[in-house]
Amino acid sequence: MPDATTTVESLKGEIRRFAAARGWEPYHTPKNLTMALASEVGELCDVFRWLTPEESQAAPADPQTREAVADELADIANILFLLSVHTGIDLSDAIQAKMTKNAIKYPPPAQTPGADGTDERPRGDAGKSPTA
Ligand SMILES: [Mg+2]
Repeated sequence: MPDATTTVESLKGEIRRFAAARGWEPYHTPKNLTMALASEVGELCDVFRWLTPEESQAAPADPQTREAVADELADIANILFLLSVHTGIDLSDAIQAKMTKNAIKYPPPAQTPGADGTDERPRGDAGKSPTA
């Protein structure tokens, strides 16, 4: 099931059926899922903790580390899909809407006020992560 041929809807359906078959849905409140998401992100952080930037870039070449990263990415994605299901928020729509907002909030450098040296105003959020 490569990304190129797998839909978000099919993945959401698969994790939802997995949870339903185990009777887990009553526990899948937005609060619980958000806590679980944070925990899984923590597990991913643990894989890379204490590595230098260069070591972290090379880490996925190691089969054991690659599997650990893949496992945590899958855990994170599955919980994200469940959050989408249980909040009724269409993930693809949300991503597109946020990308549109980010494109306005974080214009390419050539379009950033002050980038050409003619505008001395502070650059505001220009240096922050677009996911913030
Ligand atoms: Mg995990």
